[in-house]
Amino acid sequence: MMSASPCCGSEAAATVASYRCKVVEHHWVNPRYRYIRLEADAPIARITRAGQFYQLKCPTTLEHEPFLLRPMSVYGAGPEDSQIEFLYNVTGVGTRAMATLPENGYMDIVGPLGNTFTFSPAYRRILVVARGVGLATMAPLIKLAAKASSDITAVMSARSQADLMEKEFLRGANAEVHSVFDADGTSSVEAMDVLLRRLIDEQRPDAVYTCGSHRLLMLLQRVLGDYPQIVGEVAMEQRMACGMGVCLSCVRLFDCDGDRTFLRVCREGPVFSIRQVVGEVEFG
Ligand SMILES: Cc1cc2nc3c(=O)[nH]c(=O)nc-3n(C[C@H](O)[C@H](O)[C@H](O)COP(=O)(O)OP(=O)(O)OC[C@H]3O[C@@H](n4cnc5c(N)ncnc54)[C@H](O)[C@@H]3O)c2cc1C
Repeated sequence: MMSASPCCGSEAAATVASYRCKVVEHHWVNPRYRYIRLEADAPIARITRAGQFYQLKCPTTLEHEPFLLRPMSVYGAGPEDSQIEFLYNVTGVGTRAMATLPENGYMDIVGPLGNTFTFSPAYRRILVVARGVGLATMAPLIKLAAKASSDITAVMSARSQADLMEKEFLRGANAEVHSVFDADGTSSVEAMDVLLRRLIDEQRPDAVYTCGSHRLLMLLQRVLGDYPQIVGEVAMEQRMACGMGVCLSCVRLFDCDGDRTFLRVCREGPVFSIRQVVGEVEFG
């Protein structure tokens, strides 16, 4: 295993701790996604960077008994220094239990974990390609780019208009948005190949970022092969247990300048170079 590699995003300072947080706000944003704002007794917003995640201890309920902590990217921070936000898809045992947490209830979280997106305020334009809950992971990046006055082009892919969550993604930032949908075929690999190449040719972004879809990741890897000067990064979602680099359940294979190596998504990632992800692998 490697701790720093040309495959990975930027390293973050290691200040991992466990926090008992109060639920300040918790509600549905649409039929599948919930928003939660937590308050710790420490200024965790200040130490958390774009792309990082926390391990959340979901509650045990009469119906659900989640054992492992669940990884969630930080969706935002504030308005107080002690507050951070998550946006999550209610899918299985842990997130269904989490959805029952009342406001003024408590939740334990561990983090911040993982590395961060590489972003330079000198970037003139960035292109972000988001699908599903990947937008939660990339929302802090949008905020960074907006603060640096970088132009933002967002390609947002969703099953249908109802799943898009454009307002939740941009959170007031100005961006040129291209929405594509499964419902009308505009999100197909073929259609997106054409769209992405046109946008890159016309706008020449300094960096391209993605999260939330393996299909989009592989498509961007192919497209960026023709644009070697553009930085490409992906925040990977991988099933994981400890989240701290010990259990090795989240390893993925990467090709780091010809050196094929297993890296831990929780520790060396979750942000990696798009070019260096190795697609499908059989583990020995
Ligand atoms: C770095 C990182 C950031 C993430 N950020 C977000 C986010 O911001 N919002 C969001 O909705 N989801 C996010 N996910 C996915 C989220 O962790 C899973 O949806 C969640 O763990 C599902 O838990 P569950 O108990 O409801 O589902 P179950 O299917 O019951 O979970 C069973 C086990 O599988 C693991 N698991 C299931 N799906 C995933 C997955 N896609 N990725 C990793 N582990 C999984 C769980 O942690 C749990 O241990 C992120 C995943 C990673 C790795």
